[in-house]
Amino acid sequence: MRLGIISALQEEQHGLVDAMQTATTTTHGGRVYTQGTLWGIDAVCVLSRIGKVAGAITATLLVEKYGVTHILFTGVAGAGDRSIAVGDIVIADALVQHDMDASPLFPRFEVPLTGLSHFHGDHAMALQLHDAAHQFLEHDFLDAIDAGQRATFRLLQPRVHRGLIASGDQFMCDRGAIGALNAALPGLVAVEMEGAAVAQVCYELGIPCAVIRTISDNANEDAATDFLTFVSAVAAHYAFHIVRRYCQSLGK
Ligand code: SAH
Repeated sequence: MRLGIISALQEEQHGLVDAMQTATTTTHGGRVYTQGTLWGIDAVCVLSRIGKVAGAITATLLVEKYGVTHILFTGVAGAGDRSIAVGDIVIADALVQHDMDASPLFPRFEVPLTGLSHFHGDHAMALQLHDAAHQFLEHDFLDAIDAGQRATFRLLQPRVHRGLIASGDQFMCDRGAIGALNAALPGLVAVEMEGAAVAQVCYELGIPCAVIRTISDNANEDAATDFLTFVSAVAAHYAFHIVRRYCQSLGK
């Protein structure tokens, strides 16, 4: 196995890159790929930057140039349903491109000429990540996130959800828009800007993939408040410990 790990923002991934052993870096297409070993797993870490095209080219190069056999996307997302809170963790069962609409030629959300609107995450990876996320909340959360940040972001009892993640080239920060998307996409748990593009690339190249996101905001008018503080003070620690536990479980 060679695991490709993608995040959109630098703050989401720097702990993982620091933890890599025998790391070497190469630059391609304006992105830095760090290859090495993470808790015994052969891995390549890279920042995609933001958006579907950025996610797609990064996933493609990971497979075609860096030879990864599995792709894991870790990052943050807006809540896709009112039952989901900031600090919760979501794992994609399926991913959809919410801004894809070639109707009336094709049904809304369907990627033309694939016959698909939903791209599935790999079941085994999702199960292993689900376990890792639970272990993180049970054993690491209180030590990893300091009490001040837990109070600031009201992280009381974070939960893990699985469901549909919707991606589009839009930062969602409008109550009406997220409500309408939730109504149009049953099972929606989160909105973000890269996952479904990575999932389409992985589907087309036959590579198992998983997307796991920490909820950073409610995709409403308050979404941008403290966004970057949340990413570095909270989400980066989630990603670090969940990926650590995931890699350690693979090595057993
Ligand atoms: N303010 C940030 C911009 C981040 S864009 C900056 O200045 O850098 C948001 C990133 O987090 C994207 O990579 C996306 O995948 C994810 N994300 C988090 N909340 C989101 C939301 N409400 N809508 C869309 N994407 C969101």
